[in-house]
Amino acid sequence: MRLSQTFTKTTKSAPADEQANNAKLLIQAGFIHKEMAGVYAFLPLGLKVIENIKQIVREEMNNIGGSELIMTNLQRQELWEKTNRWDDEVVDIWFKTELKNGSKIGLAWTHEEPITDMMKNYISSYRDLPVNVYQFQNKLRNELRAKSGIMRGREFIMKDLYSYSRSEEEHQKIYKAITDAYMRIYDRVGLGEITYVTRASGGAFAKYSDEFQTITDAGEDIIYLDKENKIAINEEVYNEQALDELGLKKDGYEKVKAAEVGNIFHLGTEKSEKLGLSFTDEDGQEKPIVMGSYGLGINRLMGVIAEHFSDDKGLVWPKSVAPAIVYLASVGQSEAVKNQADKLYDDLLESGISVIYDDRDTRPGQKFADAELMGIPHRVVVSDKTLESNSFELKSRTSDDTKLVSQEELVKTLENKS
Ligand code: ATP
Ligand code: MG
Repeated sequence: MRLSQTFTKTTKSAPADEQANNAKLLIQAGFIHKEMAGVYAFLPLGLKVIENIKQIVREEMNNIGGSELIMTNLQRQELWEKTNRWDDEVVDIWFKTELKNGSKIGLAWTHEEPITDMMKNYISSYRDLPVNVYQFQNKLRNELRAKSGIMRGREFIMKDLYSYSRSEEEHQKIYKAITDAYMRIYDRVGLGEITYVTRASGGAFAKYSDEFQTITDAGEDIIYLDKENKIAINEEVYNEQALDELGLKKDGYEKVKAAEVGNIFHLGTEKSEKLGLSFTDEDGQEKPIVMGSYGLGINRLMGVIAEHFSDDKGLVWPKSVAPAIVYLASVGQSEAVKNQADKLYDDLLESGISVIYDDRDTRPGQKFADAELMGIPHRVVVSDKTLESNSFELKSRTSDDTKLVSQEELVKTLENKS
């Protein structure tokens, strides 16, 4: 992308009405726009990061046999009444509206009910199982507080997957495969080392669920950690009884703040029974389907990455999610510099390297500051000086050293994924 053609602008200082670092930085760098508390629009640079994260998640979900679909935001009251989740006393984050004829409509905060009801059209025999479906969908939740920037939105993108299995054994297998896929996702976005599978409360069916908690002061949760053995327990279930049941010892845990970047649940047959989703097994018997549900907050994950990978100059994106690999800045307005930079831009794109091309008529200091604020992994400068030596000036976001490199060397460095 050429910055001369991009409408977003960086600002000198962070917005005064934001408390969360992620929102401060992302607004200042022109990645997001705040529509109201907990509601953010994603601008071209922010959208690139979202799409990069989604692609990593998509690859891992496809890898475990998931099929992508997209459900609707408008939902039927009757389905939620069957599972006793329509009542605002039971689910306190509903947004609801109604049709002109007066019938009530729910706005999607999750999708177990509609997906499970829909599956009645497609699953009737053991031959149809297992089924794993997932989507990236905007969830709407009337959250009481929204002070964590994009880490807690009233409208946010969730990846949610639902698994349908013929037996508890088959369910456990997919649950394990998805747990592993989640950890690969956090690894790939650079958070693997500080993300823990964490025992948490289980919702309606099972006693426990598994959360994926990333250590960060920006998080809203408290977890207890045994780093060495990679064991983590959410404060909400950290008591003697739970520790006993889990066969864990009672001391030596470190208390840390963390953000819940994912949460997966065993649902058993409760929902399929209430919604009437069953199948005929090999033995001719009619049985309810064993379900699981698996959420991962895309915006929250982006917020945690922004919090973790940033410094006093701005964002520091890992390459796997960065809006571009390189920030190309032309310095000086001579025709020769402009031509050389234009040509390099085209060449890099042709090599499949994503580029933010700062071709604006602004002073170098501004360009360098924006490259750092936006957190692009590499910076390349074309100037009269580099023209003279027939080379390019290359600098990494995480180092102050610059070096002169040939185009061949440059492409090689930028193509390196790690
Ligand atoms: P929390 O306890 O943080 O409110 P939750 O347990 O209600 O979250 P789930 O229903 O388990 O959330 O949703 C699955 C995932 O979606 C969460 O693990 C989190 O990553 C993300 N998520 C949940 N609520 C929000 C929100 N308001 N804004 C952004 N992401 C969210
Ligand atoms: Mg949760």
